[in-house]
Amino acid sequence: MARSTCSVCKFCRRENMKLFLKGDRCYGDKCAFERRAYPPGQHGQRRTKLSDFGLQLREKQKVKRIYGILERQFRKYFDSADRQKGITGLNLLRRLEIRLDSVVYRMGFGDSRKEARQLVLHSHFFVNGKPVNIPNTILKANDEVSVRPKSQKLVTILRSIENSKKREISDWLEVNAAEFKGRIKFLPERNHVTLPIEENLVVELYSR
Ligand code: SF4
Repeated sequence: MARSTCSVCKFCRRENMKLFLKGDRCYGDKCAFERRAYPPGQHGQRRTKLSDFGLQLREKQKVKRIYGILERQFRKYFDSADRQKGITGLNLLRRLEIRLDSVVYRMGFGDSRKEARQLVLHSHFFVNGKPVNIPNTILKANDEVSVRPKSQKLVTILRSIENSKKREISDWLEVNAAEFKGRIKFLPERNHVTLPIEENLVVELYSR
């Protein structure tokens, strides 16, 4: 699976906000954005006024970076969200949230979406009692995600559960960390996506 290999802290500096891509480090004073809150590169500190197109493009890049999705897959998600009934922007965000790697992260079994993706790829999770190692698996209401019994002593997972106490578990999820499992109570609504995302700009960009 193709993935971006850049230093992810650059993404936060480019988007001028913390995207929380590095797990526990994002909450401490080692966060690169806390130290240098301006875009990377030689001209990073120049002020530039973005056009409408520029704003839409930046917003799309930001959403892709938060969820760790590359352009082709992201475009597929948009096309599918556009074909669905309802509000396209919300359909898109919901689809990104209910990917297995994102749910594992939200449940606190991974410190970041990137780490959650690695854990899923290495077959540490079951969905409804069956092993699933495909991070972009789309889940649905009432699906149960559990840590494979053999993986319950894995330091990465235990550390993530401990670190996740600093984050709030979203209402649409029910987590029983002591039993290494969680359930999707209902599909997320717009208010459950707490990062400042303007999905309407992404819709406008792809509708040009
Ligand atoms: Fe972004 Fe986290 Fe790096 Fe800070 S530590 S710049 S929030 S990825």
